[in-house]
Amino acid sequence: MSGITKELDILKQLFENLSETDKQAFLTSVSPKEQVKRVIEPRKITNCPHCQSTHFVKNGKDCGNQRYLCRDCKKSFVEQTGTILYGTQKDIEVWEKYIHCMIEKYPLRKCAAICGISLATAFVWRHKILDALQNMMNEVELDGVVQADETYSTISYKGNHKNFNLPRPAHKRGTRATKRGISKEQVCVPCGINLNGLSIARISNLGKPSLRDLQKVLNGKIAKDSVFVTDSLRPYQKLSLDMNLSHIRIPRGKRAVGTFNIQTINSYHSRLKNMLVHRFKGVATKYLNNYLVYHNFVNFAKDTVTNKETILLDYIRKTICTIRSADISKRSAIPL
Ligand SMILES: [Zn+2]
Repeated sequence: MSGITKELDILKQLFENLSETDKQAFLTSVSPKEQVKRVIEPRKITNCPHCQSTHFVKNGKDCGNQRYLCRDCKKSFVEQTGTILYGTQKDIEVWEKYIHCMIEKYPLRKCAAICGISLATAFVWRHKILDALQNMMNEVELDGVVQADETYSTISYKGNHKNFNLPRPAHKRGTRATKRGISKEQVCVPCGINLNGLSIARISNLGKPSLRDLQKVLNGKIAKDSVFVTDSLRPYQKLSLDMNLSHIRIPRGKRAVGTFNIQTINSYHSRLKNMLVHRFKGVATKYLNNYLVYHNFVNFAKDTVTNKETILLDYIRKTICTIRSADISKRSAIPL
């Protein structure tokens, strides 16, 4: 309690010193709704989905959806052409229900039962939606106080058994948090978060990360004037130098340097493990990147459940996503 009060005091003092314009900008930026909306602003239709031409015109409406005609290939398309919803032959109401189930993190069987769809369809929809959400995460830039740390997940071949020869005995479900005994049987997931609920996480390599591994996930994703807070792992120092960030390193065994700590990312990691291990009973490594964006959106982004449902529905209605159902399970077992 006293810790919070002290930090609030510092914040108030800093705030008082801002110009009127900056004060206004600050207040806008801490409004959670604004944050999420800004990140996932749906992509405008800029190309014909058939031939990529930019030369198209509006051509009436189709069940309330704007229809377009391409001047080059002469084909017509609607807003949904190329999106997840296009060609699924299910009413939007079913998708609405499904998205509600996803935000509630219901297991697939429960989603399928509530929506009246097959288990296979529930699985495909989950990953199509999460694939689309990857696009949202690609747009994220972390600003303000940014905490980064990596986490590890034991390689899981869950769901691969039918057509895959396991290189070693399968582990029981499991995702280990400890950094002791990091081996090449664990995938490394560098993560970065800020205090406004924005986050980035993706599989980078096996075992401990090098500078290049961290760069794969975090390079160019942190705004210039941010304060970058990490533990003492060496590659973070070089990373922050390269990105020209002010860097706070928390020494081994210490919890904080001044008011800076890595508590938010620690809790981000424990909520992630909780979702993967307890809620979903372990997930296959090949889908881990999808579950990372799932976690980012559902658990970590700051917005209400209702707003998240609206945002997600709006997003999948408008985002181009061309992955085919049959290809979802064909992705590589360890997506590096
Ligand atoms: Zn065209």
